[in-house]
Amino acid sequence: AAKNDGRGRARMFNRSMMIMLEQREMLRRSLRVALREQQFFIEYQPIVDATDGIVGFEALLRWRHPYAGVIPPSLFIPMVENDGLMPEIGAWVLEEACREASTWPSHCIVAVNLSPAQFLEGDFTDRISSILDEVGLPPDRLELEITETVLLERTTENLDMLHTLEVLGIRIGLDDFGTRYSSLSYLQNFPFDTIKIDRHFVKDVESNPRVQTIVRFIVGLAHGLGMQVTAEGVETAGQAEWLGKRKCDRLQGNFLGAPMSAKATGDFLKRRSVTTA
Ligand code: C2E
Ligand code: MG
Ligand code: MG
Ligand code: MG
Repeated sequence: AAKNDGRGRARMFNRSMMIMLEQREMLRRSLRVALREQQFFIEYQPIVDATDGIVGFEALLRWRHPYAGVIPPSLFIPMVENDGLMPEIGAWVLEEACREASTWPSHCIVAVNLSPAQFLEGDFTDRISSILDEVGLPPDRLELEITETVLLERTTENLDMLHTLEVLGIRIGLDDFGTRYSSLSYLQNFPFDTIKIDRHFVKDVESNPRVQTIVRFIVGLAHGLGMQVTAEGVETAGQAEWLGKRKCDRLQGNFLGAPMSAKATGDFLKRRSVTTA
């Protein structure tokens, strides 16, 4: 009986494996179609400073699938990465976001997320330079957001790459700080412009004294190293106030502004300049 069960399980396993492979193939095909048919689009989420001024926007990728609807990046980016399509899609995001940013007031930056795979292309820095040239965006208006995973592998090469970007005048932010393999040696070896405190800390920052200690520590650490701090996922006035009092330089989250279409950034900027004028 055990043998039969074993064979039965093996057959089942093979069959579901096959279905999975078929789905992967389907997905790979639909990703290529998505690129060609422009099913990808970008939403922009405001980043504000302590005085409520607009620092800029973070570009967030979405996929409008013809049947499935809008698919969030947490679902499709891992698949894009597995299938080796990230450099292609990443280049599209960079160009599109920089082009959009070139229409904003000259003090506004655009933050673009990079995945580790984009670092593997040898010509990555050249590509960025030519995109900036082409759309006419000054390098210091682009902030590339990387996570610690980028620094886990090929440490020396990736650090070199970051230094090249720095020399070009591009800003670098460390995203999701404190959630993964945080090692303080990254901070010793690389002068990030910004550290982003992950929203999991921000969520509990008013109520949890241990989280408060961690956030105060990150802010002190960043400032001591000459870096700015952005808190992400700010959802309430209370969180914004707590973070502002503890000298968090920038805030981002649905309380300050949810991700919006490219078109809506224009209105958002206009409304803001009216209120501050
Ligand atoms: P991230 O870079 O940490 O981006 C912030 C995420 O928090 C976004 O999720 C944003 O929509 C969400 N968020 C913003 N405010 C709030 C809030 O008040 N409450 C809550 N609960 N969430 C908030 P999203 O857009 O789903 O993106 C998820 C992740 O996907 C991003 O995290 C980033 O790591 C990745 N991603 C997005 N676009 C790109 C891209 O173009 N390239 C790459 N490589 N990764 C991307
Ligand atoms: Mg980010
Ligand atoms: Mg983040
Ligand atoms: Mg995060």
